[in-house]
Amino acid sequence: LKNFAFQRVLVLGLAKSGTAVAKLLSRNGIEVTANDLKASEHNDNVQQLRSLGIPVIVGEHPLELIETVDVIIKNPGIPYENILIEKAIEKDIPVLTEIELISYFGIEQLVAITGSNGKTTTTTLIYEMYTKAEKPVSLAGNIGHVASEVAAHMDNNQTMVAELSSFQLLGIDTFKPSIAVLLNIFEAHLDYHHTLEHYQNAKANIFKNQTSQDVLVYNYDDERVARIVENACSTLIPFSRKQKLLDGTYCNESAIYFKGDKIIDLNAIVLVGEHNIENILAAISVAKVEGISNQVIYEVLTTFTGVTHRLQFVKKIKGISFYNDSKATNILATQKALSAFEQPTILLAGGLDRGNEFDDLRTVMKNVKALVLFGETAPKLERVGKANGVKNIHLVDTMDEAVKESFRLSQEGDVVLLSPACASWDQYKTFEERGNMFMESVHKL
Ligand code: ADP
Repeated sequence: LKNFAFQRVLVLGLAKSGTAVAKLLSRNGIEVTANDLKASEHNDNVQQLRSLGIPVIVGEHPLELIETVDVIIKNPGIPYENILIEKAIEKDIPVLTEIELISYFGIEQLVAITGSNGKTTTTTLIYEMYTKAEKPVSLAGNIGHVASEVAAHMDNNQTMVAELSSFQLLGIDTFKPSIAVLLNIFEAHLDYHHTLEHYQNAKANIFKNQTSQDVLVYNYDDERVARIVENACSTLIPFSRKQKLLDGTYCNESAIYFKGDKIIDLNAIVLVGEHNIENILAAISVAKVEGISNQVIYEVLTTFTGVTHRLQFVKKIKGISFYNDSKATNILATQKALSAFEQPTILLAGGLDRGNEFDDLRTVMKNVKALVLFGETAPKLERVGKANGVKNIHLVDTMDEAVKESFRLSQEGDVVLLSPACASWDQYKTFEERGNMFMESVHKL
């Protein structure tokens, strides 16, 4: 930890990252106090910190805490309306998030990825490309380990690839990636950020400290993104699914190009879905800036089957392709998944009933040749299927039955897609459990 100007730190929120930060700073001789409104006295993290001699206050936010600190490092989920944060801001006490600490470890090669959607997929692709190219790399942020903890253990020749949310980016001051990736900005998380402008500003923080020595990879097709990068001092690498860009990465109907050089034919890529093309264009941009060979990129894209539970290719049996999109817990995600395929599709859907109807799925029903439904919403989905001309509709009780039924209904060239459009909690602990059971049943066929 170099040039860290603060002697007394208040860590707010004791989830994974807060606990790691408290330990890290304390280990580096900084005076740390930790506070969490919701954690109980018996919480493992609380116990651990106390055993290291770090004072921890739980169940309340005593205002006097800010009288004796120079800085607050808060969990990204804690809103700025929190009473302690409001008071701290009034008193000009800096309020930071954990990723700001990366700056103090002298990490020179840092690839940071943000956007409303596609972060995990893009981050994973970039990580896979570095790994395949045998470049030393560590994964951090929302996937992987706590970023500052990773930074504390990194060698100089290593690159950190980090997935970051807008919440994390709000709390930075000097944080500067050598390569930043800005994927897209949708109207998400407005409950926290209140206005779109505020949300955009948070995303823009990813490049605010960059200079022309640093690279900013951005989505040329996203109007909001294109507008905010006009203020960047970085070297810009645009990517586009629509425009031929000779200074960046683009695709036409058949292939992807970087600065005019062909990288890969689209039909060689395993990942499906138009949105994934954007994630791939972003990942290729980073790889090419880093001098990774076309051969390595090709090897990754022809073998990478997708992030688990996100439109992930599972297996082909007798010419029938099985995909696991258990992460699709809402209608929009299932629409996206269904539009990724032109083949006749057997859709496995249903789950927790949150009171919504599923009529919006009609726009993507044209390739659905059968519906296999389960969970609380099965009758509602059955109604929408019937209303839209799906003849083959089956209600089942278990995932195993659903998979067997879908296999029975399908023929060579079809797609069997688990994309439930609903949360899983009526029948499963998590969407991961649901996806794993699907994959197990597929492998048993
Ligand atoms: P994140 O980490 O940002 O949540 P993921 O890579 O996990 O993103 O993808 C989550 C879902 O977001 C996908 O299942 C898909 O429906 C959607 N998605 C992924 N990439 C994009 C993109 N580039 N544009 C729009 N939607 C996307």
